[in-house]
Amino acid sequence: MLAGVEDGLTAELRLPSPLVELDDERLRAAGVRLLLKRDDLIHPEVPGNKWRKLKYNIATARELGFGMLLTFGGAYSNHIRATAAIGAYCGFSTIGVIRGEEHLPLNPSLRYAVSRGMRLTYLDRSTYREKTSDAVIRALRQEFEDFYLIPEGGSNADAVRGCAELPAELDESVDVLFCAVGTGGTLAGVAAGLQPNQLLIGVPVLKGATFLEDEIVTLQNEAYGARTGTWRLEHNYHFGGYAKRTPELDKFLDDFEARHALRLDWVYEAKMMYALYDQVTRGTFRRGATLVALISGSGNAPEA
Ligand SMILES: *Cc1c(COP(=O)(O)O)cnc(C)c1O
Repeated sequence: MLAGVEDGLTAELRLPSPLVELDDERLRAAGVRLLLKRDDLIHPEVPGNKWRKLKYNIATARELGFGMLLTFGGAYSNHIRATAAIGAYCGFSTIGVIRGEEHLPLNPSLRYAVSRGMRLTYLDRSTYREKTSDAVIRALRQEFEDFYLIPEGGSNADAVRGCAELPAELDESVDVLFCAVGTGGTLAGVAAGLQPNQLLIGVPVLKGATFLEDEIVTLQNEAYGARTGTWRLEHNYHFGGYAKRTPELDKFLDDFEARHALRLDWVYEAKMMYALYDQVTRGTFRRGATLVALISGSGNAPEA
């Protein structure tokens, strides 16, 4: 199955990813256990959910005989970085279609992508919004020819199937899982791999992203033909929206780092973890419950 990614990369992967328990008086007071699923440690350049989402996409692209991957993302996209890295490891050329205008010098994310051989091209914001339209894709095919298209954030049926493998790495005593939500691909997959008694709570980092429920159901339909698993989204922890932060969130992040020597990625994981602690201290979970927080990426990504 994994013929597409054997080259160079599989030997370096840390799978199953480590599971570590956190000790904290807030958890003890609520009578719950919290374990971190450290997917950020799977690989330094293709961390966490990005590895899980790209794994079967790479295999499919290889099976179909493509030598080039093309994908979409913002200028700080972790998915763009991960696609550049996995392409370099697995012998694909890569094209990153970036939202907005080119800004030189490139920021560290895009500089890193270029250092891994990715070619960048830019779409203005209104064209970018139409990136799944026939017209935009036809224009890209004219320019770059024979590429395997991976959607923004990598989220498609292959991504969902890759993420669905995660819960099997956990023990059945886990009651509730938490994950941050960008496009929803990770949640769609992880939910599909749950045991019947397990609940997955997703924390969107976008403001007012009520379209996500539908998109997640669509992804599950594409992969499995039905909505799967028990999951829900908590929409009140976006802190102003994507890549927005507040002093309250920063304080939480600093405090978490001081207690647990782990700097959380602030765009995604800090908001998810804030939500988890907020729900725990509100008494949302029964005493004796075991929670797992999925850590998909870390606060310090490698630079070029
Ligand atoms: C990409 C990313 C997410 C969001 O994943 P989706 O599948 O798009 O919802 C969450 N956390 C981290 C660290 C990420 O890099």
